Amino acid sequence: MADSSQVHAGGCLCGTVRYTVHGAPEYSAHCHCRSCQKAAGAGFVTWSGFAPKNFSVTEGEITICATSQGVQRGFCGRCGSSLTYSGEGWDTIGITSATLDDPAIAKPTGNVYLAHQLPWVVLDDDLKTYERFPQDDQERFPD
Ligand SMILES: [Zn+2]
Ligand SMILES: [Zn+2]
Repeated sequence: MADSSQVHAGGCLCGTVRYTVHGAPEYSAHCHCRSCQKAAGAGFVTWSGFAPKNFSVTEGEITICATSQGVQRGFCGRCGSSLTYSGEGWDTIGITSATLDDPAIAKPTGNVYLAHQLPWVVLDDDLKTYERFPQDDQERFPD
C-alpha cells in the first residue's frame, strides 16, 4: 500500500479533468455491478475509495450524473471518462483506479457484485469475492 503522506495525481483521457488523492486508498476492488458495466462500457470497473477530504479536483470540472437514487457518478464532460462514484452519507468517494497516473498504487483486494458478473468475464485471481458488497458480510476489503 502507498505511504499515507503520498500524493497521487490522475485525470481523464483528454486531460481536461485532473485530480489528486492523498495517501493510500481505503479500499480497491473490481466492481461487476450492472451500473458500472453500463457507465464504463466495460465488463467491470476497478474502484479505489478515498476519504472525501483526501480527494481534490485540480483542473477542469467533473460532470455529475445521478445514476441511481442517492448515487452520483462523475465523468469528464468532454471525453466521457468515468472518474468518480459517490453517495449521500458515504465515508469514501470512489475513484476509477485506472485513471490514476500510476494505477499500480491501487492494487485491488476484492471482487464485488459478482451477482452481476458477465459470463465472459473469467476471474483467475485469489482476491476475496462478494455476491454484492462486503458490508453484507460485515466485512471491509481486507489488506
Ligand atoms: Zn476528458
Ligand atoms: Zn459497480
